[in-house]
Amino acid sequence: AELYGVPEWSGGYFSIAANGEMMVLPAGGADNRAVSISKVAEGVKARGLDMPVLLRVENILDAQIAILNETFQQAMTELGYRGSFLGAYPIKVNQQQQVVEQITHYGSRYHHGLEAGSKAELIAAMGTMRDRKSVLICNGYKDEEFIDLGLYATKLGFTCILVVERPDELPLILERSKQLGATPILGIRIKLASQATGHWAESGGDRSIFGLDTNQVIKAIDLLTAEDMLDCLQMVHYHLGSQISNIREIRSAVSEACRVFIGLVREGARVTYLDLGGGLAVDYDGSQSNFLSSRNYSINEYCTDIIEAVMTSLDEEGIDHPIIITESGRALVAYYSILLFNVLDVARFRPDPLPEQLPEDCPSQIHYMMETLDGLTIRNLQESFNDILFYRDEARHLFHHGTINLRQRALAEQIFWTTIARIAELSKELKHITPELADLDRVLSDIYYCNFSVFQSLPDAWAIGQLFPIMPIHRLNEEPTVNAVLADITCDCDGKIDQFIDRRGVRRYLPLHELNNTDEYLLGAFLVGAYQETLGDLHNLLGDTNVVTIRIMDNGEFEFVNELEGDTVADVLSYVEYDPKHLFNSFRKTAERAVRAGRISPQERKEIVQAFEAGLRGYTYFER
Ligand code: PLP
Repeated sequence: AELYGVPEWSGGYFSIAANGEMMVLPAGGADNRAVSISKVAEGVKARGLDMPVLLRVENILDAQIAILNETFQQAMTELGYRGSFLGAYPIKVNQQQQVVEQITHYGSRYHHGLEAGSKAELIAAMGTMRDRKSVLICNGYKDEEFIDLGLYATKLGFTCILVVERPDELPLILERSKQLGATPILGIRIKLASQATGHWAESGGDRSIFGLDTNQVIKAIDLLTAEDMLDCLQMVHYHLGSQISNIREIRSAVSEACRVFIGLVREGARVTYLDLGGGLAVDYDGSQSNFLSSRNYSINEYCTDIIEAVMTSLDEEGIDHPIIITESGRALVAYYSILLFNVLDVARFRPDPLPEQLPEDCPSQIHYMMETLDGLTIRNLQESFNDILFYRDEARHLFHHGTINLRQRALAEQIFWTTIARIAELSKELKHITPELADLDRVLSDIYYCNFSVFQSLPDAWAIGQLFPIMPIHRLNEEPTVNAVLADITCDCDGKIDQFIDRRGVRRYLPLHELNNTDEYLLGAFLVGAYQETLGDLHNLLGDTNVVTIRIMDNGEFEFVNELEGDTVADVLSYVEYDPKHLFNSFRKTAERAVRAGRISPQERKEIVQAFEAGLRGYTYFER
């Protein structure tokens, strides 16, 4: 558990059992209903679904919704807040139907609503929502159709808030409202001067794409007043960015938004909602810091700081406390999905044993290399490292000019890697190690080839260097003896993971176990429920993975509540405009021509065509 930092990043939902299996704890923390993830994986395979599999644990989603809502409610009670809290799940964070349905199901006891950022998301929300006590927030670029849909939702009795993101939207909303005879509920997205650091910082600040600056806010108020519709303006909204690691940035944004809220009240608007957008971060690396993959605050602190900041600002002005809305997405869904995948093969970085004696015709550079290796001691590690690199480069240079042959070059490389491995070994005994020597564990790490696609399943690991906890899900009572980086099965040199979580920053390799011939070695990438599924792409035509959802029951047993087969080869081909039927027929003709030309027999044709057809029907990942 120490090695992989499980207690730090798991949010209480995962732990390691004495038998070395990774367990999932449905309610987090003290829960005696722990279920072994390898047992679930066995069940998945027994159902005929191959790895990789995205495993969702419904209970975790349920628990996260409860934590967010109850922590806000509790903080409000403790601080004497006179408003209330409403959550709105932003569909963009994970749009899968099952996810949105589960959120509305488990969120109904808190009237947890939805946020839509496009027409398609709004349609998904309108078709899913039933609870009229929750809010439906409409963000994003809006055309007439989008606005009309939102207005119809209002007519049906939903609190559907159309957020004005750009100045031109307001006249259009007002015009459509008149046309449809609907009274709009309006929000206004403001551009804050406060800006967060991090990957998504530009969602806030003066240069943010969306939102009105103060001058535009004033113009909007004037237009609404002129139309006698200022009453419709009920919400102030902002979104600072996602994964805000630093609580001070969250606090200062809330305080600034409160000043705008106060300004609107003073202008005569009856604003009752204050929507803080998303940003509640997930501590992926467990460092509890303001690193990009972490956060330096707890949910409790997040809620308390927000409420305190709102109360401080509004109480001074004698203004009623608003209903606070947050559009937390990442924090709700990240924990509940785990990507499970198997290791297919290993490329080792262990040099072959060296010959007892160097061949006679060896150039002097190879002799020098051998002398460096023989003279290696704990006291001359850095010097030997410099020397061996120098001679290795000289040997390569000589090879380039045809002075040494292929065998001699291979021998030089072999001596080089043997020396590097020994230096790495000996450097472990040093108290202070230079950065170059510290990096050798990474340089010497093996490559574990894994059955998944980084681009499809962990796109943020590739695109923005996001760290996810990745570790074996079994054999955790055995000492890992290998340092490895992971390669996926795309043939892209970026299809790898060579940065792993570490409390102090980033680790460049992952301690893993040797593969054995009998059992499959399974790894899990944890906390992948937010953003990864829909940002994933079809690089190398590796498609959606199989998805399995489980629910852990009160008696500690689990049941499969949903299985969704991943894309077949035919599916992914059709996404890129092929017609699988046409492809099949065309291939059949090619095989027929081969029969006619006498290259294959009719029997062989049958086998080949059958293999092609089975390939079309098959999973896009490696199948055993
Ligand atoms: N609200 C808006 C307007 C967003 O753009 C986003 C995503 O960046 C979110 C909410 C969700 O943010 P998070 O996942 O950090 O909670």
